[in-house]
Amino acid sequence: MLIGGYKIEVEQAKSWIKENNIRRVLIQAPPGLREIARRLAEELSSSLEEIMLHGGGCWGGCDLAVAHASAVSADGILHLGHAKFLDEDPLPTLYLECRRADPGPLLKTLKKNIRLLEGCGRIGLGAIVQWLDHLDLVKQFLGEHDVSALTGPPASPLRYEGQVLGCAYAPLLKLSEKVNGYLIIGSRFHGLGLGLQTEKPIYFLDPELETLGPLDAEIERLLRSRYGYIEMARRANKIGILVSVKPGQFRARCAMSLKKLLERAGRRAEILIMDDVETDLLRDSGFEAFINTACPRLSIEDQGSVKLPLLLPTEALIMIGEARWEEVIRGPRYLMMGV
Ligand code: SF4
Repeated sequence: MLIGGYKIEVEQAKSWIKENNIRRVLIQAPPGLREIARRLAEELSSSLEEIMLHGGGCWGGCDLAVAHASAVSADGILHLGHAKFLDEDPLPTLYLECRRADPGPLLKTLKKNIRLLEGCGRIGLGAIVQWLDHLDLVKQFLGEHDVSALTGPPASPLRYEGQVLGCAYAPLLKLSEKVNGYLIIGSRFHGLGLGLQTEKPIYFLDPELETLGPLDAEIERLLRSRYGYIEMARRANKIGILVSVKPGQFRARCAMSLKKLLERAGRRAEILIMDDVETDLLRDSGFEAFINTACPRLSIEDQGSVKLPLLLPTEALIMIGEARWEEVIRGPRYLMMGV
């Protein structure tokens, strides 16, 4: 079924409900897909005893509403807009990925801007799950303009050939020796995530905004500001290490290792447990700097509003001299969330 231009597998949802004997379900959707969640609830109402909609934040498959579903005794979760993230779901979960049915905006944007990619020779190509169905069309179009596009195989948490997430690009990074640059289909956000981990030129294509452009200047600006925040954190006396309880972001072990490393370097830090990492809560917590073990992109996207350093684990290692800036920045380790 098509809802708002997205393919919604309603029949698959009905079969899943039957096979798993689901009577109460929690439907979870990110901002932008909440109306689809409501429409889906209408479609499924005759197949279930109770349907509840999750009204909290949700930015990725990492953020599965297990605690909320358990609190209302739901038998399972219907999670919209993301592919499966966790290797094992704590509750029966069906991921309705909401893929885009029409490749029109994607191809139109590519055609309008193809001159930017001509001459690239061979590129690595990735897309968020919404646009994955159209990757072959993109490859074909690029091929007609003498650009050959390579995709990487799935590797957890990525479930599909060519898929990227804002925090997961490993298959593309492995192609580094074979390509002259990368094209990421999704948004500026998704392109930036890869650009922080490679020195190759990066282009992003946003079909919703019909925009395609390079990101290298923005990445350089961003890295200069990251360097500044690492320097600022060196002077902080009160450091909080953030742990989120979201199932796909929970890294208590990483936080404890970081705490020990900081103590060995003569710094004191406390572990701060959160659900959503909200900037107001951070500013109110009394710390002068943070190390973020939750979603790595919080350190990039929310840094401006927090104002206090919100370092990635690798940046914390640079701060205490356990790693070197030039070894980490624009390399595959940069967004890694373990130490
Ligand atoms: S970028 Fe953040 S929100 Fe998105 S999947 Fe990764 S951890 Fe989750």
